[in-house]
Amino acid sequence: MGHLSAPLSCLLSPGIASLLRRHVLKASHHFSAVSRRRGRGRSDLLSRSRASARTDRASSACGSSADSLWSVYNHTKRHTQDAMPSVSSVSVDPDSIFANNEMSLRDTEVYGFDYDYTLAFYSSHLHTLIFDIARDILISKHRYPEGLRAYEYIPDFAVRGLHYDVQKALLMKIDAFHYIQLGTVYRGLHPVPDEEVVAMYDGCHVPLEIMSDFYGKSSHGQSMKQFMDIFSLPEMSLLSCVNDFFMKHNIDYEPVHLHKDVKEAIRDVHVKGIMYRAVEADIGKYICYGEQSHAVLKKLHEHGKKMFLITNSPFDFVDRGMSYIVGRDWRDLFDVVIVQADKPGFFNDRRKPFRRVTDKGALLWDRIHKLEKGQIYKQGNLYEFLRLTGWRGSKVLYFGDHIYSDLADLTLKHGWRTGAIVPELREEIKIMNTEEYVHTVSWMQALTGLIEQMQVRRDAASQAVVGEWIRERQAMR
Ligand SMILES: [Mg+2]
Repeated sequence: MGHLSAPLSCLLSPGIASLLRRHVLKASHHFSAVSRRRGRGRSDLLSRSRASARTDRASSACGSSADSLWSVYNHTKRHTQDAMPSVSSVSVDPDSIFANNEMSLRDTEVYGFDYDYTLAFYSSHLHTLIFDIARDILISKHRYPEGLRAYEYIPDFAVRGLHYDVQKALLMKIDAFHYIQLGTVYRGLHPVPDEEVVAMYDGCHVPLEIMSDFYGKSSHGQSMKQFMDIFSLPEMSLLSCVNDFFMKHNIDYEPVHLHKDVKEAIRDVHVKGIMYRAVEADIGKYICYGEQSHAVLKKLHEHGKKMFLITNSPFDFVDRGMSYIVGRDWRDLFDVVIVQADKPGFFNDRRKPFRRVTDKGALLWDRIHKLEKGQIYKQGNLYEFLRLTGWRGSKVLYFGDHIYSDLADLTLKHGWRTGAIVPELREEIKIMNTEEYVHTVSWMQALTGLIEQMQVRRDAASQAVVGEWIRERQAMR
């Protein structure tokens, strides 16, 4: 399901967007040059066609009309290939940082961080671990068939951003306009034919009222859950494997129960501390890029910046990871540390007060009047955080990996600057830097120009040719 990476298009950085724009501009420039020349060629062809029509009647006129389109097609294709930009001239550094707004880091006084997949980046071993533990919980606690143990985590099966139809047990990509992308719908581990999808959904559009918000809730009976968390990759894989097992063995099952059980099993892996204990026991196996996170934090500290951490993870787990990444004195770098914050509720719900936690995990009952360096706080909410620290607006830059809860709400509601950590972009950029990708995009743009120009021809032969071009473009997409 590698081609399902398209949900990331919504995360495309301006750098990549400008790369695409350059392709489009170059391709359309080529196309207009071709069109100008083609203007002459076409009139020649058309006059030939008219001459032909006078002598050979309608049938040969149709053939000539199609020939003229194919002649323009071949000309455009040759020209696009000749004028192809060299891949090195359009390639983008996969390790770049992309900005979509102008800001000076010198003016940014306060830097905030999420923890999981922001400061602590995990290896793929973690997904395998979560999958294995949740699968075993399904078997031992929820009495699912023993045969499920044969399934293992499939690393390239799914990407973030996919939707899951809880009642129909289908995983799919839905675009920003709520259209199901045909070819991306999977039942279990196998694709569902396009015709079947269209019949099931009465087309491809999914109305807003049956789309979930990102918590997986829906106001109607139906629900589409969107998986936006990097931790949800093993969940999608497990759901699909169990669906696959049930279908393969012709077992009658209720997809709604399956979704609930898998969700609970995955939650248990986190909540019951199984994952935390496993990671703490072999931290070097699970955490990557520790030295790079350390270098960023150290540099900010040396430049006198304020720093804070807001994470949903418990203190023990964060302490173990940060000690590995930074050292035992990591708390000296941070002015405020908040654990088990219960995001996204933390950013939207005003009701939960902060609570102090001791190093040993004991909860204290005193009222919090200020957030002090060296202390650890649990829960709380952003409104209280802003009141107690005064860290408001554009002087704050907060980094996180969750597009909605870490980033969108903060920017839209509170005016903080935000930085998205999107590990998938590195792989996406590498693909965009390949010769095959550059060639395909250039030709696709040129072909789109041809389709737009020639679709006004209403005769049957021209319509058939344009139809073929549309199918070619569809196949390229
Ligand atoms: Mg995170």
